[in-house]
Amino acid sequence: MSREIHCPMGDGDLQADDDAQLLEKVRAHAAEAHPELTAEQVQEVMANGAHDSH
Ligand SMILES: [Zn+2]
Repeated sequence: MSREIHCPMGDGDLQADDDAQLLEKVRAHAAEAHPELTAEQVQEVMANGAHDSH
């Protein structure tokens, strides 16, 4: 089972084996594509958006 998240800014999907790895990818993506997001907002994106991939 893997986990995925759709970027709330609408520019792509991220996938990883588990939440810890997904969070790393979300952080890396946010740092590169959405530097305006705070660490807190990134956590919120994770909490609200991560789900099992299908
Ligand atoms: Zn994005």
